[in-house]
Amino acid sequence: MEHIRCLIIGSGPAGYTAAIYAGRANLQPVEYCGMQTGGQLTQTTIVDNFPGYPQGVDGNQMMIELREQAERFGVDLRDGEIVKADFSRKPYVFTTDRGVELEADSVIIATGATAKYLGLPDEQKYMGQGVSVCATCDGFFYRKKTVAIVGGGDTACEEAHYLSGLCKKVYMIVRKPYLRASEAMKRRVEEAENIEILYETNTLGLYGKAGVEGAHVVYRKGESEERAYDLPIDGFFLAIGHKPQTAIFKDAIALDEQGFIKVEGQNQATNVEGVFAAGDVCDPYYRQAIVAAGSGAKAALDAQAYLSALGK
Ligand SMILES: Cc1cc2nc3c(=O)[nH]c(=O)nc-3n(C[C@H](O)[C@H](O)[C@H](O)COP(=O)(O)OP(=O)(O)OC[C@H]3O[C@@H](n4cnc5c(N)ncnc54)[C@H](O)[C@@H]3O)c2cc1C
Repeated sequence: MEHIRCLIIGSGPAGYTAAIYAGRANLQPVEYCGMQTGGQLTQTTIVDNFPGYPQGVDGNQMMIELREQAERFGVDLRDGEIVKADFSRKPYVFTTDRGVELEADSVIIATGATAKYLGLPDEQKYMGQGVSVCATCDGFFYRKKTVAIVGGGDTACEEAHYLSGLCKKVYMIVRKPYLRASEAMKRRVEEAENIEILYETNTLGLYGKAGVEGAHVVYRKGESEERAYDLPIDGFFLAIGHKPQTAIFKDAIALDEQGFIKVEGQNQATNVEGVFAAGDVCDPYYRQAIVAAGSGAKAALDAQAYLSALGK
């Protein structure tokens, strides 16, 4: 069986940054890139908030450059997924989607998270042309414009409040007759003059020629008061949650109630010795590329310290 000192799972900003650090520290890292080489940023056009790119950068281009940087430090980058992880003995044993088994002394899990969508075909049609899953990332592009945000939880309220500081008008599209957020968050959105909450409302689709110009929505669907109408908007934000990619780790690694990996205090250690996590897979809150990259660097430094303490 192939023996690896430092296995990195995932090739988003967290995985590639961990790979750069681990490569430079001579940990001879092997990185499995998964089904989405480059991670979530390959789904977007311009990344405007990653330091070092004064004019912004195409998400795909940025990830190609991170990959090239990892290659320069001798990282062994491989296609394919890790489909099974066995932490019951050391070295830990992993199985790839091609049925190959590997053993590793240390592991960095950087498998990310995926944003949840409503499942409307129009979400994909207008992706990057008015549809966004990240208010912090894209709100700036909608300054003084009118947007809608779907969701009624704490995240949706927080993002609606963030957008209200940039946009002329923010509609919150909420399926239920109430918000599922904390009292403090509810108050913040209810008191904002330019936020209007559309309770008991569902989105049926989006319209617009070159980008989103509005949403087809319906109030009290299926009831006698049902009323369908068009809501003119420039941007459509989703804030209905994220799903961390942790299914294969759930039996061994401690997860929070939403399935995000729990890391300990100041470092990226999980509850299993020698196993570290970085990026969105352990971050239910920030979900930003720079934060993912930073935690990837920390995870690699933690793996280095762990291996060095073992004399490996
Ligand atoms: C459309 C969109 C636009 C965004 N725009 C911005 C922006 O402008 N600025 C910003 O800061 N952030 C933005 N974000 C958020 C940002 O993309 C994420 O915070 C960041 O990509 C998280 O990085 P990550 O490395 O943790 O995970 P991800 O980027 O999610 O990468 C996860 C990686 O893990 C791999 N993987 C998963 N499971 C396995 C497995 N079993 N085996 C092997 N590999 C596996 C995947 O193939 C992928 O390579 C955006 C997100 C989206 C969806």
